Amino acid sequence: MVSLCLQAKRPRVGAAPRVVANQMGAFEVLPQELILSVLTALSSAADKPADLFNVMLVCQEFCRLVTNPQVIRAASAACVSVLPRRWCAAADRFLRFCGDNGNADANFFLGMIQFYCLGLQTHGWSRMLMAVRSGHAHAAFAAAVVYYNGSCIDHNQRQPLAAANLFALAACRGHMGALRDLAFCVSNGLGVRQDAEAGRRLTFTANLREFRATYPTAAEQAVAYAHVVGNPGCLTSELGCFTTVPASLRGWAHPANRFLCDWFSANPLPFPPRRLLLMCSMPTCGRPETRGLEYRRCPVCGIARYCSRSCQSLHWRMGHTRECVPTHQWLMEAIANHAVVNADDGANAAAMPAVNNNSATHHNNLGGAAADAPAPK
Ligand SMILES: [Zn+2]
Ligand SMILES: [Zn+2]
Repeated sequence: MVSLCLQAKRPRVGAAPRVVANQMGAFEVLPQELILSVLTALSSAADKPADLFNVMLVCQEFCRLVTNPQVIRAASAACVSVLPRRWCAAADRFLRFCGDNGNADANFFLGMIQFYCLGLQTHGWSRMLMAVRSGHAHAAFAAAVVYYNGSCIDHNQRQPLAAANLFALAACRGHMGALRDLAFCVSNGLGVRQDAEAGRRLTFTANLREFRATYPTAAEQAVAYAHVVGNPGCLTSELGCFTTVPASLRGWAHPANRFLCDWFSANPLPFPPRRLLLMCSMPTCGRPETRGLEYRRCPVCGIARYCSRSCQSLHWRMGHTRECVPTHQWLMEAIANHAVVNADDGANAAAMPAVNNNSATHHNNLGGAAADAPAPK
């Protein structure tokens, strides 16, 4: 009946446009709480900030409702993420607005950018802590990494106790890699009492979590179970099982990690040795060192460096095992190569007098020619 009535009231062609007092149209009959809950669901599932901005273009009332703290607080990580090439003052303002309205992803994203990319460590650190207080797992892990490495806080002092506590918090919040870092801290007595057995149990739990995330279906779990039975050590391996690198760990842990990677590929750090600052060797991490030799090196090759144990574990299983050369081996190769270069230089040096003789002869010839030339008048 409503549709029939609307059809009957269709304006004539050429008639003057009717002034609409409330542009919400059919939405005006809906309670505001219902519209807010729909917009909240939309922002929590948005793939990009444009999804939110498009809703704001519908009408003034929608524009007002979209900026409601309830909608902004629920916005997804993708909704409050920006690409490095689009970073500008407006993007900064947008993230600040979302963060100030309680969006933990925005606080974490902005905190990571300020801390690692813009050199605003104090501002970035406070944003990260705001996200930690909101219960953000990635922020808890990021803050733990900062404490673990002593990055730009309290005179670059490592604070393993705070790091272990935050690794535990992140693990409780569901962060996949934090449990492995916590196991490393417990096994080696970093900030907490050393307990090898407890460390082994945590490592076992971390490996089990990865198994469950890698093989979610029942059929896949049967294959995983057969693998575990055939390889008894794979669940106790400190670096994890090679068959279990969950898809969630292969890609970007968070849009903030992708921002860091893209940012530093577009603006590379000054080449050593002017500033010996390098990136974490895990390709999808993106964290740079904030001071020289900050990150722990791979104990085998001494070249790869990692912000955390979880980055080391993942990188080892995702390819470093094939390229890692023991320190003594590549040192011997470097010395051998140096000897070959020196031998070549020696051979070149032996050949140099002939060259000099030739050039001297040539010079003498020129001199002779000059001597034969008529003197200028
Ligand atoms: Zn290595
Ligand atoms: Zn890393």
